[in-house]
Amino acid sequence: MTLGTRAAAAAKLVELLLFPSYCRLCGDLLDESGERIVCRACLGRLAPRRGPVCPCCGRFLEGSAEGHYCRRCLERPPAFTLHRSCGAYDGALKDIIRLLKYRRFAVLGRPLAAFAETCLAPEEGLWQEAAALVPVPLHRSRERERGFNQSRAIAAGLGRSRGLPLLDRCLVKVRNAPPQASLEAGDREKNVRDAYAVKGPRRISGQTIILVDDVFTTGATLRECSRVLVEAGAREVRALTIAQA
Ligand SMILES: [Zn+2]
Ligand SMILES: [Zn+2]
Repeated sequence: MTLGTRAAAAAKLVELLLFPSYCRLCGDLLDESGERIVCRACLGRLAPRRGPVCPCCGRFLEGSAEGHYCRRCLERPPAFTLHRSCGAYDGALKDIIRLLKYRRFAVLGRPLAAFAETCLAPEEGLWQEAAALVPVPLHRSRERERGFNQSRAIAAGLGRSRGLPLLDRCLVKVRNAPPQASLEAGDREKNVRDAYAVKGPRRISGQTIILVDDVFTTGATLRECSRVLVEAGAREVRALTIAQA
């Protein structure tokens, strides 16, 4: 053991004695260095979803062996060209996203970004020639209430691992609509209509942008954000989300 690792081990021991902390999912002691809020074993339970998806909106297709365009994309193609989710909004993944969002453990943005990196690295069409990441914004008042934007926390981690710039406060939420999670599918589209705007469109002009959000449900938010970005001059918008409900 070098002096450095000895000092680190001693520091960890002191931290454990003074501030023992436990995994919010399984209750085990967080005793490995770098473990925060959720233990490594629980993070290891996160599994990418394998199976057919709509090649456009990335909707998980049940009961079909192959991917095909979903009805929604055939009838009304979205402004984004491609969206992919990492896993089903279920089990440990759902629990971790809820801890990030509602218990405000911003530090969980990092392991979720690492999970996205693992799941979506093979999706070449998502990353090719992408110039920047844009997090789906919260309205100013909601962000103040929560203390941070969970999508930005995830996008920041991905930006670091991918070497992509994060365009912050470029897409903004101008209308404080009720949270999508509180609405039925039919009302979600109306709820986000004209809720977003682009500030400083020169930053995205002619660029391929990847929108980043935590959960994909009906796709109404991604559709509306993409529409606004394309109208403001983005060459192409793609999107990624951590989980799909
Ligand atoms: Zn655990
Ligand atoms: Zn689709």
